[in-house]
Amino acid sequence: MSRQTDHANLFDDARSRLEAVFEALDVPADARERLMQPNLSLQVSVPVRMDDGRLKVFPGWRVQYNDTLGPAKGGIRFHPNVTQEEVTTLSFWMAVKCAVVDLPYGGGKGGVQVDPKALSRLELERLARSYVRSIADVMGPDRDIPAPDVNTNAMVMGWMADEFDHLARGKVPAAITGKPPALGGSLGRVAATGRGALHVLDLWAARAERRTEDVTVAVQGFGNAAYHFARLAHARGYRIVAVSDSKGAIYSEEGLDPDPIMVQKRRNQRLHDMVYCNDSVCIAENVEKLDRDDLLTLEVDVLALAALENQIHEDNVDQVRAKALLEIANGPVTSAADARLEERGVPVIPDVLANTGGVIVSYYEWVQNRTGERWAEEEVNARLAERIERQSRLVLERAERESVSNRQAAYRQGIERIANGILKRGNCQDSD
Ligand code: NAD
Repeated sequence: MSRQTDHANLFDDARSRLEAVFEALDVPADARERLMQPNLSLQVSVPVRMDDGRLKVFPGWRVQYNDTLGPAKGGIRFHPNVTQEEVTTLSFWMAVKCAVVDLPYGGGKGGVQVDPKALSRLELERLARSYVRSIADVMGPDRDIPAPDVNTNAMVMGWMADEFDHLARGKVPAAITGKPPALGGSLGRVAATGRGALHVLDLWAARAERRTEDVTVAVQGFGNAAYHFARLAHARGYRIVAVSDSKGAIYSEEGLDPDPIMVQKRRNQRLHDMVYCNDSVCIAENVEKLDRDDLLTLEVDVLALAALENQIHEDNVDQVRAKALLEIANGPVTSAADARLEERGVPVIPDVLANTGGVIVSYYEWVQNRTGERWAEEEVNARLAERIERQSRLVLERAERESVSNRQAAYRQGIERIANGILKRGNCQDSD
C-alpha cells in the first residue's frame, strides 16, 4: 500500500494535532476525553446484486464523531481504499470544521470500500440504496445528515434521498444534502466547496497585499472541488499554471483555462491526451505534460491540494517550492510535513477552514428543506461569502494575534466552541 493510501496512523496523526490546542485553551480533562473518540462507529456489510446476477458484499462505515453542537454531518465516500480509520478521521475533521464556521452540527462521515468505476450505473444505484438501508437507523435530519464526497455526487445523493423516503414512508428531504435541485437540493451546492476556498484565498491574498494577477496557482486534482475552484479563480484573475488528476499533470506558464479542460475530461479524455489548442479549443498556447506528482514541487505562489489526504508528507515536503499551500482536500498534509512547513515559514490555509464552503451550503440546503423555502443561487452565494469571510477573518486575525499557524488558530476556534458546548451541556459530570 502506498503512503497516500496508508491510513493506519491517520487518526492518531489527526488527534496529535489536538494536544497543542488543548494545552493552549486549557480544555478541562473531561472534555478532552470526549473529543478523543467518536460517539458512534457503525460497520456495515453492503450487499449489491450485480448485473450478472451474483451477489457482492462491500464493507462500509458510518461514523458520528460528536453531536454537542448539533446532528452529525458529513459526506459519503466510495473508494477502494476507504477504511474505518479513514472514515473516523474524516468525521473528526468534520466536527472541527463545522465548529470553525459556527454551524449547528457535529461531525460525521461515511464510506464504502468499493471501486465505483468498476460498477455499471445500475450497480452503483443499488450500492447507494443498499448503503442507506444499512445505516438508516442512525440517519435523519436531527441525527445524522450525509452528503457527497469523493466519487459520490448529486445523482448518488438523489438515489439515497429517495431510498430514505421509502424507508421513512414520507418525504424527508433534510435527511441528505447535496441532492439534485429537482429533489430539494440547494442551488449553488455543486460549486460551493471551490467557491468557498476561493473566498478564503482572496482574503489571505488581500492580507498579504498580493494582487490576484500576480498569484500563480497549481491545483492538485481535477474533480468537483478542484474544478470549481480553478474555474472561479481563473475568472477572478489568478493564473492557474498547472492541474493534475490521478493519471498525470499539465503545466502552462501563461495559465490554463479550466473550462475547456473539463469539457474534454467529461468525454473521458486524459489530461495528457487532450487537444490543448486549435481553432475550436484553447486550454493554453503552450502546454507541457508533467508526471502527476511533479505538480507538487512546482515553484508557484499557491499549491492548492484538492485530491486526497496525505499528499504532502515527510518524504516530499522538502521538495515543495510553493510559497503557500491551500488545503481544499481533507488532510492533504500530514502533521509531520505540516511542522516542517511551519519551520520553513510556508503558510498553510488549512482544510478545516478552506474547504468549508460545501458544508456551509449543505447547511443552507437543510435550512431550506426544513422551512420549505427555495433560495435563489445569488442568495446562497451571498450567504456563503458572508459566513466564510467572517469566520476566516476571525481565524487569520487570531493566528496573527496569538502568533500561531492558521491551522492552530482554526483548531482553537473550532475546539473552543465544541469544548464550551460540552461544558455547558454538563457532560463533564457524566462520571460523577
Ligand atoms: P472528486 O472525486 O470529484 O475528485 C477527486 C479528484 O482527485 C479526481 O480528479 C482524481 O482524479 C484526483 N486524484 C486522485 N488522486 C490523485 C493524485 N494522487 N494526484 C492528483 N489527482 C488525484 O472529489 P471531490 O469531491 O472534488 O473531493 C476532493 C477532496 O476535497 C477530498 O479530499 C474531499 O474530501 C474534499 N472535499 C470535497 C467537498 C465537496 O463538496 N466535493 C467538500 C469538502 C471537502
